Amino acid sequence: MDLSYTPAELVFREEVRAFIRDNLPESIRAKAGLSAYYDGSDVRTWHKLLDAKGWAASHWPMEYGGPGWSAVQRYIFMEEILQAPAPEPLSFNINMVGPVVYTFGSPEQKERFLPKIRSLDYWFCQGFSEPGAGSDLAALRTSAVREGDDYVINGQKIWTSTAHDADWMFCLVRTDPSAKKQEGISFVLIDMKTPGVTVRPIITIDGEHHTNEVFLDNVRVPVVNRVGEENKGWDYAKFLLGNERTGIARVGLSKGRLQRARRLAELSEVLDGKLSEDPFFRRRCIELEIELKALEVTALRIIDRQRKRNDGKPDPASSILKLRGAETQQFSAELVAEVAGPLGLAFTHGSKAPWQDLAEDDLTAVLGAVPNYFLSRAATIYGGASEVQKNIISKAILGF
Ligand SMILES: Cc1cc2nc3c(=O)[nH]c(=O)nc-3n(C[C@H](O)[C@H](O)[C@H](O)COP(=O)(O)OP(=O)(O)OC[C@H]3O[C@@H](n4cnc5c(N)ncnc54)[C@H](O)[C@@H]3O)c2cc1C
Repeated sequence: MDLSYTPAELVFREEVRAFIRDNLPESIRAKAGLSAYYDGSDVRTWHKLLDAKGWAASHWPMEYGGPGWSAVQRYIFMEEILQAPAPEPLSFNINMVGPVVYTFGSPEQKERFLPKIRSLDYWFCQGFSEPGAGSDLAALRTSAVREGDDYVINGQKIWTSTAHDADWMFCLVRTDPSAKKQEGISFVLIDMKTPGVTVRPIITIDGEHHTNEVFLDNVRVPVVNRVGEENKGWDYAKFLLGNERTGIARVGLSKGRLQRARRLAELSEVLDGKLSEDPFFRRRCIELEIELKALEVTALRIIDRQRKRNDGKPDPASSILKLRGAETQQFSAELVAEVAGPLGLAFTHGSKAPWQDLAEDDLTAVLGAVPNYFLSRAATIYGGASEVQKNIISKAILGF
């Protein structure tokens, strides 16, 4: 197994780095310390710049506008985006609904949706979770009843991230209430402007608006907006969730936070000198560095296995990446919050001492350290909670 980068891959890394440096708008770069706080227009602007370069849909087949990169190139690309940091290409579009449409959609759906999914002209959100259906997703109750050429949809989705920015929602609905719970589900695309769709904000513990409740009251959705076969939606959802987990470790994000924590610690005085020289702080940085190295090697091993298997199926080992990656994101957010100290608690701009000479992105990192830390607690819940990942690892990898 070869885990080192080739010279060509290292050249590619430089190309990506230079593109981000030369093209990321200054107004977005200034928010870099608060990677979770880009607003919808920041995400759209950067996504469109990547799309114009042909880089928005890094793992899509070339016939649908993918760049034709290897798995290692894709990994390098994401690492550079996250480490910069810059907004990620919108995962709901690129990692989730796009691959479902090009794998299971009709020719008309591919033609109508794929270019707009790729370019973010259609921003999609994910309508899977419901009150009472999270880890046990197949328990979902939102119903879709066929009336002529439409489905009439009634129910409620919850925790729907970015629904307030979205133009469309890919949604799991129950089309056969009498079938076994996994067998009566369909996958439909809902225009968020359809009468009967109501979006209500849920403010998360960081005080921000990331998630929503979405209410669906007699929402008429044309049957042609169902992807794949009726009652086979569970298969498409499993395919989608496997894709969601690959790349979710966000090694680059934690690496960027570690660099930032070290930079800030250079400026921070504690009782007997700089924080950066404190043995306890240095030990924590090294522990994080070791964890990140292990995660990176695990990600490359999984990529190497996928390259050899080449069957397009998600690897259950991606659950290891999700589990450990989410924990590492929390650890790195905690480290930055600790270095930021009381100013990180401000939530708003207060006294900037001792940070008055900081670059703007470092300053936003200090001021956003605690909200970022709070939001990072959700990383072990969304995309499949940690306990669920452990169940997958024990069954599919350890064979219990
Ligand atoms: C910030 C955030 C953003 C989100 N964005 C979206 C989104 O855009 N779209 C969407 O559809 N959903 C989204 N979700 C929902 C997310 O997918 C669910 O919260 C998650 O699947 C857990 O479901 P639940 O909240 O119902 O918790 P539950 O499933 O009720 O779990 C509660 C606890 O029980 C544990 N548990 C459950 N089942 C088992 C088991 N079999 N074995 C051991 N332990 C178990 C869980 O690990 C957890 O600790 C988001 C959630 C958050 C927090």
